[in-house]
Amino acid sequence: MTTSYIALRGAVERGEMTFTQAVERFLQQIQERNPHINALLEVYDIEALEQAHQWDAAWKVGQSLPPLAGLVYVHKDNIAVAGHKLSAASRILGGYVSPFDATVIERLRKAGAICIGRANCDEFAMGSSNENSAFGPVQHPYLEGYVPGGSSGGSAAAAAAGFCHVALGSDTGGSIRQPAAFCGLYGLKPTYGRVSRYGLIAYASSFDQIGPLARSLEDLIAVYEIIAGFDPRDATTAAEDIIPFSSDEAIPQRWALLSPEGMHPVVESAISSLVENLRSAGALVEKIDFPYWDYLIPTYYILTTAEASSNLARYDGVRYGHRTKEAPNMESLYARSRSEGFGREVKRRILLGTFVLSAGYYDAYYTKAQKVRRLLYDYTESLFESYDVIALPTSATPPFRLGEKTQDPIQMYLSDLFTVYANLTGHPSLQIPLHSYTGIQLIAPLFKENRLFAAAYALRHMGS
Ligand code: GLN
Repeated sequence: MTTSYIALRGAVERGEMTFTQAVERFLQQIQERNPHINALLEVYDIEALEQAHQWDAAWKVGQSLPPLAGLVYVHKDNIAVAGHKLSAASRILGGYVSPFDATVIERLRKAGAICIGRANCDEFAMGSSNENSAFGPVQHPYLEGYVPGGSSGGSAAAAAAGFCHVALGSDTGGSIRQPAAFCGLYGLKPTYGRVSRYGLIAYASSFDQIGPLARSLEDLIAVYEIIAGFDPRDATTAAEDIIPFSSDEAIPQRWALLSPEGMHPVVESAISSLVENLRSAGALVEKIDFPYWDYLIPTYYILTTAEASSNLARYDGVRYGHRTKEAPNMESLYARSRSEGFGREVKRRILLGTFVLSAGYYDAYYTKAQKVRRLLYDYTESLFESYDVIALPTSATPPFRLGEKTQDPIQMYLSDLFTVYANLTGHPSLQIPLHSYTGIQLIAPLFKENRLFAAAYALRHMGS
């Protein structure tokens, strides 16, 4: 029902529509569908309408509009927006209101974009189905009884259900790309260091990146170009220039395909018809025997839980959010506040993280995993000597049923097999929607996001 921002902007400029009408349509859609889908935890209706009025008024008197004036977006509940609640879908942050904007929010605000709400997610971004939220699971917007993916499941469901043009998510091991695939969207995990993490609640700091999810590739690129770039408040951001994407960007010709055994037939057939199209368009697509499948999940979970156990130490019942009602001493104040505030999955990961970092096991697990991470990076860089992009499925299966994997954390972890790769190496990765809520992700050399966009355009023209 909703068109893209690029289309809206054209309609406003031709006098056929107003920004206010667009916001009203989104609000109506939210009102009708959000109570069931549970994608948004909060809706900023009054603010959104006010800002839309402001841009309509500015346009009427002939002022020039900023680049994203009237673009409507939602933010995941782990990205800070000044004056609004922020909880990472956890009870432990109950009542916390952010006093500042994350850098991405500040940049979008300056560019004229309108934030319409806060999206549900897995607690502290830990999960693959959005069933770990303290505020209830998110429903897939089109497949009743199925998950939208996670951990940015609320963001994905909101963008797919027509609650906004673009949703912001965060991706530590696939949390933008996997829910984007499950909901039929584009989703970008930028190069590590490309987008500021200032104002993002940390899960695993050397993996986390903020990025956009959208139905429209143009809208996704427009938002990416605003949020990317060096930020003095995040020392891990890169100084590398952002070159605006143009359709002249060369289309990748040499594709390395990683396509393991045992995928769901629907994924298998989506990928093989895409490969056929590519080949008949003259591209070189070579299947690579990737030697590291067995190491991806263990390496990812050792390193991310280690970092998470350290990042989550700050939630102690003293500084933020939830504090236990009664505690005889300081020690038990910490213990009880944390026991009451964190959910099961978060506790599991803190335990795993402190275990792999403990004196007796540090070298056996943590140091070893760091070495594997380096090996993967080197291997990937060597692939880019012969190929322009790497392609692999985003998820081995289409969306699964709510409740199907909640009893078995290992099964849930395995669903991240294909996405954790790009976070381990830091390379940028774009999820491209294919039929039946499946997708393919492309990985490019560091800072070559534009190459991913060129590939996505090319695939779109081939009808994939
Ligand atoms: N599903 C993965 C995990 O649970 C990825 C999460 C994410 O990218 N934030 O860790």
